[in-house]
Amino acid sequence: MSRRARAHVDLGAVERNARRLRGCAAADVLLCAVVKADGYGHGAVAVARAALAGGARWLAVATADEAVALRRELPEPPILVLGALDEPDLARALGVGADVVAWTPEFVRCAEALAGNGGARLHVKVDTGMGRLGARSREEALALAELIDRVAGVRLCGVMTHFATADAGDAHFAAQLASFSAIAGVVRARHPGVLVHAANSAAVLRAPAAHFDMVRCGVALYGLDPFQRDPAAARLEPALELRSYVARVARVEPGEAVGYGARFRPSAPTWVATVPIGYADGVRRTTGGGVDVLIGGRRRPLAGTVSMDSLGVDAGSHGDVRAGDEVVLIGARGRERILAEELAARHGTINYEVLCALGSRVERVYE
Ligand code: PLP
Repeated sequence: MSRRARAHVDLGAVERNARRLRGCAAADVLLCAVVKADGYGHGAVAVARAALAGGARWLAVATADEAVALRRELPEPPILVLGALDEPDLARALGVGADVVAWTPEFVRCAEALAGNGGARLHVKVDTGMGRLGARSREEALALAELIDRVAGVRLCGVMTHFATADAGDAHFAAQLASFSAIAGVVRARHPGVLVHAANSAAVLRAPAAHFDMVRCGVALYGLDPFQRDPAAARLEPALELRSYVARVARVEPGEAVGYGARFRPSAPTWVATVPIGYADGVRRTTGGGVDVLIGGRRRPLAGTVSMDSLGVDAGSHGDVRAGDEVVLIGARGRERILAEELAARHGTINYEVLCALGSRVERVYE
């Protein structure tokens, strides 16, 4: 098996994170594992199985393709498609028995026409302040719920919203929660049995009032901190390590150049390790800039600009790095660790993007 670019995924960690998240809520609150974007880069089917083993009852994805692929491997659990669906996508999502989100009467009619015998399972999505998808007002949302209830061939299964600032827990979050709670209360009274759901990982961890009947967790399931701090603070275990190896070590003299743009020129003799993983694999294209990797349990800074298929590491003057040595780009060795949160901070992004960026050339290895 090639060691070039591997994401080692600890499925036990995913299972334990799922159990921890389920345990944050009351015993009757369902956990929905959000496994869109190939399980945030971890591999959707494998993490879905681990999350189900850890107590998740539902799965959520963003697209019809993702629902179809997941259903092929997992015939039983309910799958909710969170994203917008055009007619062909809706037909495919309904074709595998997935639940879908609705916010217009036209969509409901389209679902009715496509539903066939099985009936289409719809969740009314309310835009309470994300400004992305969903019914824009309480009246619209309630009218849509009534319509779905009346129309044969479609079933009102849920009412939901999505928070824009659950990680901040600010006034905007409070306003979204208040407006959704009011709508959900009316829907519940008029349509008993409808599943009410709103919370993402951050809301699960910090806002019990937002839990309702089901919580939808993505990022925390993977042991990534929704607050962009240390996952350990939220008692989450990072599930993924990104590893490669040293393909070549060369001694570089002062003034000699390494990498595109010849941007690395050491002022003292050093050893530079070439690692065969690059931005086509999802490693951000940077020029040094404080990004480290671990070799032999020690932090070593990148040397020069990350290439498409390789990168350089300043291995220092000791000559203690050899061709074939393991390189850890995300993960822990001994007392050292490089978290996705650290890389995200360096790159001015969030841990979600660091993991979702991992390319299809990176082999997923499950442990
Ligand atoms: N619900 C919806 C509608 C989402 O779009 C997402 C992810 O973006 C989630 C839940 C899960 O969010 P998180 O990964 O922050 O737990």
